[in-house]
Amino acid sequence: MKLALTVVGLTRFLDPRDHLGESEVTGIVDERTWNQIMDHPSVRPASVLIDPGHSPIHSGTDAKDGTPEYEMNLLQAKIVKAELDKANISAEIFDPPSDPRDLIGQKAADHSIFLSLHHNATDRKPHYTCVMVHPTKAKPKSIAFAKKLSTAVANAIGQRDFGVMENSVTVLSESEETNCPICVLCESYFLDAIDTRAEAEKLSTEAAYAIASTVIAELQPA
Ligand SMILES: [Zn+2]
Repeated sequence: MKLALTVVGLTRFLDPRDHLGESEVTGIVDERTWNQIMDHPSVRPASVLIDPGHSPIHSGTDAKDGTPEYEMNLLQAKIVKAELDKANISAEIFDPPSDPRDLIGQKAADHSIFLSLHHNATDRKPHYTCVMVHPTKAKPKSIAFAKKLSTAVANAIGQRDFGVMENSVTVLSESEETNCPICVLCESYFLDAIDTRAEAEKLSTEAAYAIASTVIAELQPA
């Protein structure tokens, strides 16, 4: 039996020279080789864990009309997941009803990217886009990805790009202690500076598409 090696999300983790031998030329592998590939511990399809920050109970900051941050975080999480689904990248939104959700960072284990989605706040004025990484535990890929993500989001929604910011929040601390190579917390913009839900939804949606594109480019490089 012959199986075509066409599974999206698998091929990028394979070095065909190591695993496929002659099959590299044809892109076809026999069933035994296929099973060896599937059993190989280093071969794991890309997957993304999305954390819509906060919860219905503790909803984070808010816009000037009271639109809660949690709802904008969840809006972004759903858009990002839908875009990743379209790209055949496995994505999971971790949004349990309980609160607080202490273990969320640990759920990053075995994922390719841990993405915590938030909206910033300080003094009801607009400031910048930034992406946070842990100050001491951040893996090199977390920092490199955070930089790309901040620029992509800032450009998409016309914010100033602050870039990478260090923050020792629990989700970053815990996620960096797992084997997940990229752990970031995105603050798309300052929600407390925004007047209305409609305006916030527009910005958050545009930012979410930029987040999704950046994740897809990272996991499925052209
Ligand atoms: Zn937040």
